[in-house]
Amino acid sequence: MAFVAALLIVLVMGDFASTFFYHVPQHLWFTLHLRTHHDRKRSYWDHAVLSTNFEVLLDGFLGAVPYLVVAALVWRISWPGALLGLALGQLHVWWRHTTELGWRTPDWARALARPLQIVLPEDHDGHHRNPDIEFGDIFRFYDAPARALLAKLAPTSRRTRNAAARRAKQRVPAQA
Ligand SMILES: [Zn+2]
Ligand SMILES: [Zn+2]
Repeated sequence: MAFVAALLIVLVMGDFASTFFYHVPQHLWFTLHLRTHHDRKRSYWDHAVLSTNFEVLLDGFLGAVPYLVVAALVWRISWPGALLGLALGQLHVWWRHTTELGWRTPDWARALARPLQIVLPEDHDGHHRNPDIEFGDIFRFYDAPARALLAKLAPTSRRTRNAAARRAKQRVPAQA
């Protein structure tokens, strides 16, 4: 019981913390994750899974810190559960980036994952194609609240600031 609890807490709370304290802030205010995870010029299998580029590794590490923190917190409940949670989380990172390799989720896995709201590689591929959708790395139930938070904080985002700066530049006639 303690084993299963620790395992689930690492995955569910880890994804929660990683989504809301790392992934969403990165999309709003920073560039590291967008330059690495959402670089359309590079294969995301390469940069999410195989790359040894420092920035790519840093993005992966920072995204994993929330899981590590949660694992440390539940360590006393069951350390094997916490460890297996981390291992499954890492397996899911690899698995959710396999779409690009031409893998298709078999129907039985889809039937199993859907009711549990587990992110399929096909879902995560959607996030790579359109960075405004499919939040939640492991669980899809974080997508709606993540998008709501993004929408609420949009006025403070880099995107909005940059657009405002561009508009301001256009309004001021260039001085010859
Ligand atoms: Zn990804
Ligand atoms: Zn992203």
